[in-house]
This record gives sequence, structure tokens and C-alpha cells, in this order.
Amino acid sequence: MRWSRYFIPTLKEDPAEAEVISHKLLLRAGMIRKLTSGIYTYLPTGWKALQKISAIVRQEMNRFKGIEMLMPAVQPGDLWAESGRWEAYGKELLRFKDRHDRDYCIGPTHEEVITDLLRREIKSYRQLPLNLYQIQTKFRDEIRPRFGLMRGREFIMKDAYSFDIDDAGASDSYEDMRRAYISIFEKLGLKFRAVEADSGAIGGSFSHEFMVLAETGEDTIAACTDCDYAANLEKAEVRCEGPDCEECSMPAEKVATPGLHTVEQVAGFLEVSPGKLIKTMLYNADGKSVAALIRGDRELNEVKLKNLLDVTSLEMASPEEVEKWSGAKVGFAGPAGLKVDRIIADLELQFDTDWVTGANETDAHLRHVDLKRDARVSGYHDLRNFTTEDFCPRCRGNMYLTKGIEVGHIFKLGTKYSKALKATFLDESGKEQLIIMGCYGIGVSRILAACIEQNHDRDGIIFTPAIAPFEVVVIALNIKDDLVREQAEKIYERLKDLGIDVLLDDRDERPGFKFKDVDLIGSPLQVVVGAKGIKNRVYEVKIRQTGERLEIPADDFVQEFTRIRNDVLAHFGLTPAVKNGKEALLQAHKPQGSVEFNH
Ligand code: ATP
Ligand code: MG
Repeated sequence: MRWSRYFIPTLKEDPAEAEVISHKLLLRAGMIRKLTSGIYTYLPTGWKALQKISAIVRQEMNRFKGIEMLMPAVQPGDLWAESGRWEAYGKELLRFKDRHDRDYCIGPTHEEVITDLLRREIKSYRQLPLNLYQIQTKFRDEIRPRFGLMRGREFIMKDAYSFDIDDAGASDSYEDMRRAYISIFEKLGLKFRAVEADSGAIGGSFSHEFMVLAETGEDTIAACTDCDYAANLEKAEVRCEGPDCEECSMPAEKVATPGLHTVEQVAGFLEVSPGKLIKTMLYNADGKSVAALIRGDRELNEVKLKNLLDVTSLEMASPEEVEKWSGAKVGFAGPAGLKVDRIIADLELQFDTDWVTGANETDAHLRHVDLKRDARVSGYHDLRNFTTEDFCPRCRGNMYLTKGIEVGHIFKLGTKYSKALKATFLDESGKEQLIIMGCYGIGVSRILAACIEQNHDRDGIIFTPAIAPFEVVVIALNIKDDLVREQAEKIYERLKDLGIDVLLDDRDERPGFKFKDVDLIGSPLQVVVGAKGIKNRVYEVKIRQTGERLEIPADDFVQEFTRIRNDVLAHFGLTPAVKNGKEALLQAHKPQGSVEFNH
């Protein structure tokens, strides 16, 4: 491709509309333009990068038994009514009516459509298992579309659905997808972690999120230094062990704490550490009163509490409810004598005693509280947020926190949709059974944004070679100089022959302007062709990632260039053979040495 005849509308200044770096750089590098809120046009280089991402997704999906197809974007409302999601999905589902006044929506996901297809076509266990996928535009009317391609309303997703005859088969399908995803993100050259998204009580985890690691990520991940356990911070499991503790030797005793509300105030006043206090948090859970107890220096995790209680609504008690249940103003509730339906305590509270708690009396606390002796605790559970002091729940290794962007999600669905839509098959004994499903999504357009969040500097994007719209830019410094133009053309042709995706910057612009633009668009390698270099029989190769500039002799151009390129590929964990099919060509093709020189 010749830049002068191509379409890359770069911008000098940061656009005011963009908050995050990937959004800024996608606009500045001329890869996307906004049509309206959360809806973007992919310009040629943006589309090229997306196609490269899709090609790797496709290749690995096919390798792990996926079969590609394409479903309609527009879906009938009736089908969503059948699954119960016409009501449940909420405003993210963009609904409209056709000329016959029938309900329709634009697909935010395709469980309904694919289950409808399969219930019609699948009769026998012999037709299963199947894994069907598509790469397609989705629409979700997100409440806050933002950050460019990171959270759009219209975006590109790869969605796959597996269909199995039993749990063992469904687990195999899930494992295939887990491996496919690992392979996809490796081949894209991204640093990522597979994160447990929900640790099921029965039979381990059934959902993983794939997170691209980037300081700007919205999610915080707790990851183990020793094994591959990683989980979303709010979902990370806290394990707590200890010997049973002796009963507290002192009886509970009321102390006046007038006007002291916060943990720090009470702890300071009673001269104990905040970790010796118990916070009593009161909730209304589906109409029942619940108290959750955690240590004064910990944070309660409402997701864990909600999952544990298995309720649909969990709300903090109102001041009136607090007064009714505890008999005191807000800030003085405690487990001893509390009038609630259920008291549950965090795991670690069972391994210590002699606590300070509220006294259920305004302006008073109790000290020397022994939960087992003085309160009606119904159970000890993992209720609090994970901290870096906690150890890995799998291997007891040390944990660290990191930030991530969710680019993929795999999920065991079980029979949720096959039951609602009656998708069945006849088993070996002729008995009708529900199909067991899984669903697997990848945010193709979000990957492009995530790659940039992970790889950029103040000059622009630093693409991984697998995603870069152009892997190499050949910069002809002064295009009006015939010799420069001819040599640049030659190198351009030579690199193309080697199967490399190359852009020739043949614009009639000043060198400084070109260097800035080329850095901005983020190609991993640049070859600079100028009159001085030609005279000295050298070309300059710049590695975008490190900023290194290497002079390579024209006579050894292909060997030297190939060596540098392989180093760059290796840096992103990509060997040439892995990168794409054409690399085989490069390897088979014994480098012939110089690009012929005209003098
Ligand atoms: P999120 O929590 O970020 O909203 P989600 O859980 O709704 O994501 P899924 O339904 O699992 O997402 O969709 C699969 C993948 O599609 C996600 O992992 C993500 O990469 C991508 N995705 C989801 N919503 C958007 C969006 N609004 N814009 C771009 N990509 C998205
Ligand atoms: Mg979402």
C-alpha cells in the first residue's frame, strides 16, 4: 500500500471527546471516527487491524472444533419472550417494531436464535456435540457508552455456543474453548490472565473471564505469584484457617461511647486496634432482616453476601429499620441481642474472641464479646473483600493485584436456554433429554482498544506485530529524489514478496512530519530510506517498541532485517511460524542478500 493513495486521516492534537488513551490514539491514528454516541466507523487501518484479530480468532476457533456461521442481527421479540429475556434484559436491548407492528430487537447476543435453530434441527444424540460460532456486529444500548471501542453500543463480537449430550461433554467443550482462548490471546501477542469469574459451589469454576493486563483497566484482578489462579478482586475467594479459640475469659461489658460512630473513633477511645472491632452491617434481603459481621478493618463484599443468601434483592437497612432491629441509632448495632432473622459472620471471626461490638444501645459499645457465647451466629462464611495479605486459595502462594480489561468470557450455561426453549434430543435409549449448552464471547473490537491500552507511549501506538495494520512502514525521506524513491520502492516490493504487510510512506512531506505520523500509527518496524544512507550503502531500521535505530548494510538487508523482525516477533511471544501462514514462505525463502543498488 502506498500512503499517498491510501486513507489514514491522522490528527495532530488529542481530540477533546476522548478520555482514555486507546480512544485518543484510535482517533489520532485515523483508525476510527464517531458517527454518534457509542457507534463508530472503522476506517481502513482500523478495519485492517480488526480483520487480523478476527483471522486469529477464527483460526483458533476452528482448531478447537468450532464451526463458523452467521446469524441475523435482527431478532424477533417472540423468541426473547420465550426465553424470558424480553422482560429481563432491560434497556440495553434495543427494541423496535416492524410495519406489521411486530416486536423486534437488534441482537446483543444470540442464545435465543441459536437455540431456536438447534431445537428444530437436532433430533438425535448422534448429531452432537456441536460448537457453532460467528463473528458479528452486536448492539447493546449501554447506559454509558464510553472509551471509544472499549464500551461501544455497536461493537464486533465473536460468539460461540456449544451443545452437548451430557455434563462430561459440556465440560470438554468448555475446556476446548478455554484452551482456544489462551491460544488466541497468546497469538495476538497480548499479556493477559484467565480469571475465575465465579467459583461455583458445585464442581469448581464454570466461568472464566480473559483479561488483558493494562494499568488503565477497569477491573482489579487478584493473581497468584506461584500458580495460575487469578480472580476478579470482588470475586476472589478468601480462605481462612486457624485453631479453635478458647472462650473469652472476661464477661461482655458495656462501655459508654457517646458520639463515637466510626471504627477508628471507637478503637481509639477503647485503645484497641480496628481489627479487634466487629462491624455489624444490616440488610434487607428479599424482605428478611440480615446482619453481616466483619472485622472493623475489612470491607464487606456485597456480591458474596448476595450469592450466599441466594436472594434477588439485597439492600442496606434504612435508619428506621436499623432502629427497629437494634433499638439504637445507626452506628451502635451489635450481634448480641440483635432482633434480626439471621446473623452471619465472616470466616475469620471464628478464630478469635474478645471483640468490641455495638451494644444495641445509642452511644454504647460492648467489649469482651465472644461471638459463640454472646450471639446467635448462624454460620461463618467468606463475606469480605480479598486483600493482598490473603494467600492463594488454591496453592497458598502469595497474591498480587493488577488491572485488566475484559476481552473474553466463557460460560457453562447448562440447560438454561434449552429448557426455556425446549431444545432436546433423543438419547441412546430413545429418551428425550435437554441439550447442555455453553457460551463463549470475545470482544473483537474491544481487543483493538485493549491492545493499545497495553502497548503505547507518548508518541503513539506500539502495535503487537499480529494486530498492526501494517507490520512495516518504509519511509522515503525525500520522495522527490529519484534515487530515494526508487530504492524505497525496491525495498517495499522486496518486503511484500516476503509476505510482509508493508506500507510505503511516499507522501511529499517533511521528514519530521512523516516520522511523527509513522510513530503514531504504531507499526512495529520502520525502514528509513534517505539520500545519505544510500550514499553510505545503509538503511536505518527503527524498532518502534524500544525506539532503537539500527543501521543495516544494504548488501545484507534481507538477512539483517529478518533477524531484527524475528527478535521483535519473539519479544511479543510470537515466533515467525506462529504469526501467520505466510511466514512459512519467509523461512523457506532463503534470504538472498541485498536489495539491488542503483548508483
Ligand atoms: P461488560 O461487563 O464489559 O459489560 P459483558 O459481561 O456484558 O461485558 P459479555 O456478554 O460476556 O460481556 O460479552 C462478551 C464480550 O464482548 C466481553 O468479554 C467484551 O469483551 C465484549 N463486550 C461486551 N460489551 C461490550 C461493549 N459494550 N463494547 C465492546 N465490547 C463489549
Ligand atoms: Mg455488559
